[in-house]
Parts: sequence; structure tokens; C-alpha cells
Amino acid sequence: MGKSCTSSIEQLTTLCSKGLIKQAFDTFKSELLSDPSIFSHLLKACIPTKSLSLSKQLHSLLITSGCSSDKFASNHLLNLYSKIGDLQSASALFRHLPRRNIMSGNILINGFVQIGDLESAQKVFDEMPERNMATWNAMVTGLVQFEFNEEGLELFKGMHELGFSMDVFTLGSVLRGCAGLRVVNAGCQVHGYAVKCGLEFNLVVGSSLAHMYMRSGRLVEGEKVIKSMPIRNVVSWNTLIAGKAQNGQSEGVLDQYNMMKIAGFRPDKITFVSVLSSCSELATLGQGQQIHAEVIKAGVSSVVAVISTLITMYSRCGCLEDALKAFWECEGADVVLWSSVISAYGFHGRGEEAIKLFEQMEQEGFEANDVTFLSLLYACSHCGMKEKGLELFDLMVQKYGLIPKLEHYTCVVDLLGRSGCLEEAEAMIRSMPVKADAIIWITLLSACKIHKNADMARRIGQDVLRQNPEDSALYVLLSNIHASAKRWEAVSEVRTAMRDRKVKKEPGISWLEIKNKVYQFRMGDNSHPQYMAIDLYLKELRSEMKLHGYVPDTGSVLHDMDNEEKEYDLAHHSEKLAIAFGLMNTPEGVPLRVMKNLRVCIDCHVAIKYISQIKNREIIVRDASRFHHFKNGKCSCGDYW
Ligand code: ZN
Ligand code: ZN
Repeated sequence: MGKSCTSSIEQLTTLCSKGLIKQAFDTFKSELLSDPSIFSHLLKACIPTKSLSLSKQLHSLLITSGCSSDKFASNHLLNLYSKIGDLQSASALFRHLPRRNIMSGNILINGFVQIGDLESAQKVFDEMPERNMATWNAMVTGLVQFEFNEEGLELFKGMHELGFSMDVFTLGSVLRGCAGLRVVNAGCQVHGYAVKCGLEFNLVVGSSLAHMYMRSGRLVEGEKVIKSMPIRNVVSWNTLIAGKAQNGQSEGVLDQYNMMKIAGFRPDKITFVSVLSSCSELATLGQGQQIHAEVIKAGVSSVVAVISTLITMYSRCGCLEDALKAFWECEGADVVLWSSVISAYGFHGRGEEAIKLFEQMEQEGFEANDVTFLSLLYACSHCGMKEKGLELFDLMVQKYGLIPKLEHYTCVVDLLGRSGCLEEAEAMIRSMPVKADAIIWITLLSACKIHKNADMARRIGQDVLRQNPEDSALYVLLSNIHASAKRWEAVSEVRTAMRDRKVKKEPGISWLEIKNKVYQFRMGDNSHPQYMAIDLYLKELRSEMKLHGYVPDTGSVLHDMDNEEKEYDLAHHSEKLAIAFGLMNTPEGVPLRVMKNLRVCIDCHVAIKYISQIKNREIIVRDASRFHHFKNGKCSCGDYW
């Protein structure tokens, strides 16, 4: 051919960059025989083609050319096999490499990690006579990436003890491992190393540090790390926003989101997922809609994770129709989206439709996973569909071979309990292979309350209280069960225990959004500027309700008081304050959407039914467990919650 070597390489590079690997290969076939550096170029260029046949051709040419003893060329070939995922060929090549070095081992470890075969990666790692930082990083990262966090941290300890230095990748991986395990002590140590290496302000390390703290519930420390970073990027903003969202600081999420935009960063799909979930938490429909518009503008409205949070946001804000719209408008829905929309139906008490959708999903060839079944079981338990629920639980285990988690058992216990099969529910908890937590017992106790089985409640309650002496909801629930069975002695027992252990009742808080502004109400909190007016309004409303037949249910009040006091207390439950405020400040006919952190009490439930009729208003209340759509004196839950 007679070309000079440099111009050959230029021509080769041009061909490769155009993706004409085959042509490059044919053109330089003869030159390859004498120059291993050409091999390296060609092997590298071959990676994006993912072509096994081309790789094999290059491999055999490498052997015939006699260049196979060149360690650069052979490592490039090893890398090619690893990157295209043919680890069998890669291992075979590795075993026969005449001049194997650390690089060769690292390549193979990365290859095994990439396909998730950590056992083989570990084997290569163990057999390597010499390792460098990249070797350790590859193995630590691989373990953490597949959630073998403990093993990852253990390995990191070994690396540290042997005196290897660390880089950004090591620290990033180890911190991810600490976050996964929520081990803040180990994380603090890593923080110390980062400071020593002068890497604490690095973009990757800083964000990983903050993530580690916030994942472990240490929001303040996490925020401090981010705020101390001289330069931030979208990842650091997202870490901060997600940290706040995961720690239940939903208001803070929206503040940070606005600050991020002011600082000139463009939110991405990860930002939107956090911000939309906070809108779901707060049920701030107006803000949610605004973010939806920004999602569309940012061009991420077809990202599955974003659509999924949009569905949840609309559903949680009481707009089932908009949730459904987001689902049906999406092309290429996957099992996550199907599950989200099934869950939305369940949340709104439309169990039949949830099941119909599941059947359609199966017909269209999607395979339900454990999240889908959780949504279905939830829907059944909230609609009192016992038989269907049990049938689905059976289907999940028998046909789909899925292993139920504690959440699934909790749904089934709820299902059995609500329909009065208390013994069966208890037997399920006692025989299930996973460890029971307070929530599942409280679920059974709630069922005892509905079915007025104070004996069972007492027997179980004592046990559960012993295990969860700090759970205020548990005391309130038990005390209410005994009160409605008129067992005053038992009521005072529970209350004494609560007082002795200095457990405070979680205060009920309700809130509603009017014109993008959120108003919060607590019982007995008269600091609200319109409190006098609200109080007066409620007084008039109460007389009107009584004329229509409303009788206050003072049985659900916990305190020692006379009846008049009890009635006053009931009349000022946070949801009643919020509804009164809403009625006073919105035009007629506009539906009210009120959120409450605890379950709605029986009296408020009865009262809101009257209010919806007297004021001819649709009132939607989301409490700690579900949605109540009040309309014309009725509630969508059918008094079943
Ligand atoms: Zn109430
Ligand atoms: Zn209801």
C-alpha cells in the first residue's frame, strides 16, 4: 500500500469515527500484520458496534499476525470482549494472556461487574497477585452498585488498611454504601478521609456525603455539606431536594426548588420526581399543576418515573381523572405506570376498576410485580373486597411465584380484619414468615375497633404496647376501643400508661390550599388571624347541622371533661376548622380539598356529611389512610375506613 504510518492511522481513525469499522478492517488487514498500534485503534473503535463476529475476526487476525504477545493490543481485545458483554471469551483470553498485568485484571473485573456477576469478579480480584487503586475501586463500586453494601464497606476497610490512597470514585462508592446501610458513623469516618484527601468539596464527593447524611435521617448535616460547597451542580441541588423530600420536609422542597431555578440551574427529571412527590405529600394541587407545566416545558414529560409521580400527585390531590389522563396519554406505559394507576383507583375506593385494569394489563402481556400486587391488595382492602383480595394474594404466590413482603401481609390482615375475620387475621400475623411490626398489629387493632372486639384488642394491645411503648397512635387507638365498649377502667389504664411513659399524642393537623397558598390548622390553635370569624361560623354551622339531625359523637374524645367541653373540643378538630375556613373563603360550588395527617375521627366524618349537604359542597378529605369524597350527605368510603 505504501502509505506512511501516520497517514494510515489518520485514515483508519476517520473510517472508524464514521462507524465504517468493517471497511477499515478490510483496508488495513495487511498492515495490521505488522503494527500492533493499529490493532489497538481498531479494537477500541469496535466497542460501540457491539459486534461479536467482528471482534472474533480481529481476534484471529491478532493471533495470525503474531501481535498477540503485545500487551497493549491484547488488553484492548480483552476490553472489547468485556465491554460487549462476552465474558466467556474475555475470561478465556485472560487465562491465556502471556503478558497479563494489573490492567488486564481490572478490565475483567469491570466486565464481570457490568453484567452483575460479582462472584466471578471477586474470584479474579482474589487471584490477582498485585492490585492498584483502580482494582479496589472496581470491586468496591461493583459490590455497592448491586447493594452488597456491607461487603463493599468491608472491602474498603481492607483497602484502607493496606494503605491505598483514595480518589473521587472510591469515596463516592463507599458513601453510597454507607447511605444504603444508613450507617452514619462509618459515613462520618469517610467524611474525615475526604477532608484529609482534600476532596470534601469535590462535586461528586460533596453530593455523596450529603446524600449519605440525609439518607440516614441527618438532614441538617447533609444541608451543611451542600451549603459549604463552593460550586454546585444539578446533582448537588437534586441531592438536597431529594433529601428534604425523603425526610418529610415537603415545604422545604419547594423552597429549594425555587432557589435552584433562581441560581440558574435547570431542573431535570430527577428534580421533578422529588418536587412532584412533595406536591403529593402536601396535596398542593395548584403547585403540582404548575410543576406539570414545567415538566412539559423541560421536555421530560414522557419519562416513566416522571409520569408515575404525576399520576400519584394527581391521585393524592384528589383528581383521579387527571391521574388517569396522564396514564392514558402516555405511550409505552410499563408495569410501573400500570401499578401507579391501579394504586390510584384503590386510593379512591374504586376497587372494581382497579381489578379491571389489572386484567387489561395482563391481557396486554405485562407481567405484574410485587408492587402491582400491593396496589391491588390495597384496593381490595379499601373496598371491602375480601374474596377477590384473597384470590389475588393466592395468584401472586402460586402463579407469579412472588414472595410476599410485610406490606402485602399487612394488606391481607386489613382485608380479613375489616370483613370481621379477626381470628384469621391474627393467625396470619402469627404464622407469616416475616417479622411483624407495629403497623400490622395496629391494623388488626383497628379492625377490633370496627368490630367492637374489645377482648381481643386488650389481649393483643398489651403485647404490642410492650414492644412499642413510644407509639402514641397505639395508645389513642386502644383507649378509643375501650371507650366505645364503655370499659372506663381499661381506658384509664391506657391513659395512665401513656402519661407514665410521657408519650405525647401526635397533634392533628389539617391543611388546604386556596389560590396556591397553603393554610394550616391545628385544634385549639387560635393564633390564626381569622380565628374569631371561623369560631363564629362553626357555631352557626353546628346549630344548623343539629336542626338536620346531627348529634355530636363525644365517645371519640379522649380527655376527662364534661359533655359541654367535649363538644367544644370536637367542634374544633383541625379538619372542621379547615373546612369552615374553606367555605368562608371560596366561591359557592368550588370543591374543597382538605388534607389531614391523622385519620378522620367518627364525629368529623358524620359532621362533614351534614356540611356537604347543607352547604351543597363537594368536600374531599384525604386522611392518613385514604380519600373521602363527601357529596350530598354521603361519603365515597361508605363509612368504611
Ligand atoms: Zn374529628
Ligand atoms: Zn369517608
